[in-house]
Amino acid sequence: MKRVYNFSAGPSMLPLQVLEKAQEEVVNYRNSGMSVMELSHRSGLFTDIITEAEKLLRELMAIPEGYKVLFIQGGASQQFATVPMNLLGKNGKADYVNTGSWSKKAIKEAKKFGTIRVIASSEDDNFTYIPAVDRSMIDPEADYVHITTNNTIEGTAYLEIPDTGDVPLVADMSSNILSEEIDVSKFGLIYAGAQKNIGPAGLTVVIIREDLIGRAPENCPAMLDYKTHSESGSLYNTPPTYGIYMAKLVFEWLKSLGGIKEMEKINRKKAQILYHALEESSIFKSPVRKDSRSLMNIPFVSDSTELDAAFVKEAQSKGLETLKGHRSVGGMRASIYNAMPIEGVQALVTFMNDFETNYEQKEERK
Ligand SMILES: *Cc1c(COP(=O)(O)O)cnc(C)c1O
Repeated sequence: MKRVYNFSAGPSMLPLQVLEKAQEEVVNYRNSGMSVMELSHRSGLFTDIITEAEKLLRELMAIPEGYKVLFIQGGASQQFATVPMNLLGKNGKADYVNTGSWSKKAIKEAKKFGTIRVIASSEDDNFTYIPAVDRSMIDPEADYVHITTNNTIEGTAYLEIPDTGDVPLVADMSSNILSEEIDVSKFGLIYAGAQKNIGPAGLTVVIIREDLIGRAPENCPAMLDYKTHSESGSLYNTPPTYGIYMAKLVFEWLKSLGGIKEMEKINRKKAQILYHALEESSIFKSPVRKDSRSLMNIPFVSDSTELDAAFVKEAQSKGLETLKGHRSVGGMRASIYNAMPIEGVQALVTFMNDFETNYEQKEERK
């Protein structure tokens, strides 16, 4: 069986152990004679799955009491609207930080529901850094402050979570949830589409402080009201059952590695290997400022689009897949989420070195 190192930004790699476990259980889950896909979401077997998934996530992220975990659908993009629909109750205004494409989409959507202020932005320099955010910039009357903790396309991440005082902090954590230790108590609400670090697409995880539930207006559609999902234990309607099962397997895998603390160590090592290679490289470089670099998504560029294209193509023939950069940044992007093994990053760096040597030899012969 041939597996590749898949550097896709999402959907992205899943741990092989998780896929094999799913394969083993796919036809006959725990002697039920059924697949998890065929189980009623009200059945005892599925109740065990969703209960265990939540328990593991709470344990991994050390989610304090007073927070609800919701397993819902719609992706992170649905949350761009659901957050303002639910939280803009009191004052009808919120502060946003604009750090890239996903932030922009969140801002655009929120503007449909209230007064949205952009308090900091890195658009002036093509989103290659995370702007400073401090308490003095925040409107104390804002219903919440919204940030994107990791910018999947631009390859930037907050090294420190801004202090927003009493104003609830809402974070789109789609591309770095579970990658490093975070203090959940700093956040009012965290949301993430599953397809980067949690499991297959179709599941969205929301972690919400209980006092932020029940603020939606009367006319809020039931499916978009956090209260609906909170009161029903994410079983108001049929949740993405197979996605929740896969997430549970991923959480078990993370726990078996030693939890987020160990995962973070591995992620830091992986990123360090790649950033170091970029520092050393004579043809490739990171466009991102050193104090804002993501551990998960690492874009890199050369001076020539032909060279970039040749690199992506040759890499693919070596089993290094989906390295083409996002069209807004160009060049390459290596997404090295939790499931990317260190060997994958080493293989990429080895290939980069070989590619560079070949290139230099060709240049000399010219
Ligand atoms: C992938 C991504 C999204 C979009 O997620 P969907 O689940 O496809 O809606 C939003 N924000 C960030 C930071 C992402 O990485």
